[in-house]
Amino acid sequence: MRTDTGPGPADDAAVERVVGDALELAAIGAPTGDEGARGAAVAERLARLGLDPQQDAVGNVVVRLGDAGPALVVTAHLDTVFGPEIPLEPRRDGDRLLGPGIGDDTVAVAALLELARALREAPPVRPVVLAATVGEEGLGDLRGAKHLLASVPARALVALEGHLLDDLVVGGIGALRLRARYRGPGGHSWGDRGTGSAAHALLRAGAAALDAVPRGAHINVGVVRSGSTVNAIAEEGELLVDLRDDDDGRLRRTAQRVRDALERAPRGVHATVEQVGHRPAGRTPGDHPLVTTARTARAAVGLPPAREDAGSTECNAAYPLGVPAICVGITRGGDMHRTSEWVAIPPIAAGLGALLELVRRLDAAELGG
Ligand SMILES: [Zn+2]
Repeated sequence: MRTDTGPGPADDAAVERVVGDALELAAIGAPTGDEGARGAAVAERLARLGLDPQQDAVGNVVVRLGDAGPALVVTAHLDTVFGPEIPLEPRRDGDRLLGPGIGDDTVAVAALLELARALREAPPVRPVVLAATVGEEGLGDLRGAKHLLASVPARALVALEGHLLDDLVVGGIGALRLRARYRGPGGHSWGDRGTGSAAHALLRAGAAALDAVPRGAHINVGVVRSGSTVNAIAEEGELLVDLRDDDDGRLRRTAQRVRDALERAPRGVHATVEQVGHRPAGRTPGDHPLVTTARTARAAVGLPPAREDAGSTECNAAYPLGVPAICVGITRGGDMHRTSEWVAIPPIAAGLGALLELVRRLDAAELGG
C-alpha cells in the first residue's frame, strides 16, 4: 500500500472522507450492547469499497484481506458511553468535529474505513484483519475484542482510539468489576424496626470494601443504589465497584479481599457478589518490533515522539493470549465521555498518515512468535 507515494500525512481528500464518515456514523446511536445499526452502516461502507465484511457471533464487523494465516488485527470500537436518551446531532464547526462519541471512538472507526480503502488499493503481503468491535465501553468487558482474538489468530493487535494522537499505549491497566446485591424483607421504618436493611448492609459492606484495598491498588465505587423512600426499610441495594491495578496478580488478590468485605451482611439480609468484568493487565516491551515500528511510523510523518504509557483499551484482551498489542490515536480532542466531546480536524492528516505507514511497515516486519 502507498507504494506510489512516500510516507507523510494523509492528503486532504482522505481527511475529508474520514470527516464525512465520522459525522455520518456518529449520528447513529451505538450504546454498548446495542451497536447493530452502526455496525450495519460500517459493513455497508466496507462492501461499497468492494470488500466482503462479515458480522461475527457477537456483532463485530470483520473484514479479512489476505489468506487465513495469523493476521495483523486492527480494531476500532463501535460502541459509545451514550445511551439512547442522548441526542447525538454531530456537527462540524470550523476546525472541529463535535458530538457525543465523535472521538471515542467514531473518528477511529472512520480511519479504519480509510485504512480498508488503502489496503484495497494496495493489498498487504501478509493477512490483515480489520474489525469494528462491540462492547469496549462500560460493562461491555471487551466482549468484541475478546471474541475476535479468540477466533482470529493474530500476529499483533493495533487498537485505534480517536483522541490519543500524542500517546502510544503499550500497556494495559488491569480492571476488575464486581456487582454486589443486597436483599432484605423490608418493612416500616418504625413498625418493623430491627429488621435487616439492605441499605444499611450496603453502606457497611461498601465502607469495609474501601478499607480492604491495599496501598497502590485503586477502587472506585461507581454506582450505589438502594431503597425506595425515607420511612421504609430498604428491600434492595446494589453496588458496582471498579478495581484497577497494573499488576494482574495483585488485582486478583485485591478483588478477593473486596469480595469478602462485600459478602458480609447482617442477619436477614442476603448478599450476592458477582464479577461482571475483567480486563487483564499486561504490557508489550518497549523494544518489541511492534512498538519500535510505531515510533518509526510516527517519525516518518513528522509526529513528535509519543507518551508511552499504560491505559485501558482493547489491548487488554490481547495480553493474556500473548499477542503483542498497542493502541494508537488518530487526532486530538477533549471532553471524552461527555456530550460536549470534540476532536480537531487538522491533526487527522498526521494520525491517518502514521496509521497507514504503521500498517505498511508491519506488513513487512517480523514480529516474532
Ligand atoms: Zn474508546
